[in-house]
Amino acid sequence: MRIKSVFLIGLLYCAPIIAQPKVVTLRVGGNASYIGGFEDFNHVYVSLNELSKGLGLTTFVLKSTDKLSVYSNYGSLLFTPGNNFVVVSAGGETKVLQMPIPALLANDKLYIPAEYAGDYFSRIIQGSLEYDEAKSEFDYSPATAGLPEITGVQAQSKANGAVIEIGMQSLPRAYEASITSSGLGGEPDMLYVTLMPAAGNVQKLDSLPQTDIYTSLFAIQSPNSIQLSFRLKQKYVSKQVFVDSTTNSVIIALYSSADVQKIFSEELKKKLENEKKNWKLDVIVIDPGHGGKDPGTIGVHGTEEKNVALAVGLDLRQDLRRALPKVKVVMTRDKDVFVPLDERGEIANEAGGKLFISLHCNSMPHKPNPMHGVETYFLRPGKTGEAIRIAAQENAAIKYENDYEKKYKSYDADNMILTAMAHSAYVKYSERLAQLIEDNVSAVASVTDNGVSQAGFYVLIGASMPAVLVETGYLSNVREERYLRSKKGQRAIAKGITNAIVKFKAEYEKNFTQN
Ligand SMILES: [Zn+2]
Repeated sequence: MRIKSVFLIGLLYCAPIIAQPKVVTLRVGGNASYIGGFEDFNHVYVSLNELSKGLGLTTFVLKSTDKLSVYSNYGSLLFTPGNNFVVVSAGGETKVLQMPIPALLANDKLYIPAEYAGDYFSRIIQGSLEYDEAKSEFDYSPATAGLPEITGVQAQSKANGAVIEIGMQSLPRAYEASITSSGLGGEPDMLYVTLMPAAGNVQKLDSLPQTDIYTSLFAIQSPNSIQLSFRLKQKYVSKQVFVDSTTNSVIIALYSSADVQKIFSEELKKKLENEKKNWKLDVIVIDPGHGGKDPGTIGVHGTEEKNVALAVGLDLRQDLRRALPKVKVVMTRDKDVFVPLDERGEIANEAGGKLFISLHCNSMPHKPNPMHGVETYFLRPGKTGEAIRIAAQENAAIKYENDYEKKYKSYDADNMILTAMAHSAYVKYSERLAQLIEDNVSAVASVTDNGVSQAGFYVLIGASMPAVLVETGYLSNVREERYLRSKKGQRAIAKGITNAIVKFKAEYEKNFTQN
């Protein structure tokens, strides 16, 4: 926040009042940061945005109304400018509480009296936030019980850089790393790593001995997340972050030269070697797209995508059980119900899935349209314009989920890239499966092979296994719509996918036992 010596608060319902700027201290687990605000005759007001940030919480401002939401892992708060009511959602219930004084909008930022902040924030964080008026200080001791803990930090020099491995009890949902360079001679570069949800013993982490890679490390614990700051011994030109689910670790690869691929592929090789020891294609997950209140795309004659996807999915299950009797087949839905996109990935992971096949139908914006054929996608942030258009169409299912803004906000472009990185180990296999599906479906069904593409589908992000999305044909094409709604068409497509999976299984398992 920019602090002016004196600034005016113009509000619709009261005359401008003159307020003095004020800075309030926030202590979190021994670390201090500073929150901007102001004071009038009776109260100290603090910036909701800065306080939330200091506590490691996410905020979201609804532009049209300047309402501000604060999110934690445990709930959310909603503040409205000029309004006394605070909407608190936590523990599965929503309450409306009344603040003695309304939230104030000043210079486009929302402020509330510091003395009340503790009460509201303590409802959505573990531990409690208290404000000491005499010291103008917030104190927060995070209770981190229940968060996955850091179990260790390892650093190793590599041919072209370094690898830092952070061991965790379980993998954090979000992770990011950045390097900052002071630009001054002699000042070391810093590496910042943020993990969420995550916790660690700050004293223990701070006292870890120096390594070949860094001279010191310090940790800051926030309610849901932990940030590790490494003082680096040398300059690195770039970095990559990915997770290894076999060892529950977050890996940061630091590259000292542009020849980055070498170290990364070394790590991947290690990861794959770990995995192939116990790799067997024993569980296949079929994900019929859409369902329930989400019909998916609608054909020229009213065919709903959700029904085609389910019919093909059920046929596919039957075929797979016959062709691969030892393989378990799991469906994310086997009837006409709505399943949120992120739950589909969870179902797959919990079932120990080794393959994830999402089934859909395509459509052009203007119907009827001659465009036809089958397309198979695997995960990678959208590349071609066409792939982006189709991804946008399929990802639109999110709007049927109640709290989609909150749930998918973290899937911005950068995060998609990170998540795709985590998938890198599978990309080769996903691509091969996608190619086999194209070849085999067009061989047995009356659909043309439109080829394999890469795109950023949310539904593929959640599944930690080779994953593909099949657009079985165009409902915007009259002939193809008729074919897709016919039993004959559905069976033929299922048969083609089954043939592809049988071949893929043979190739994949041979590959792993040979190497
Ligand atoms: Zn779809």
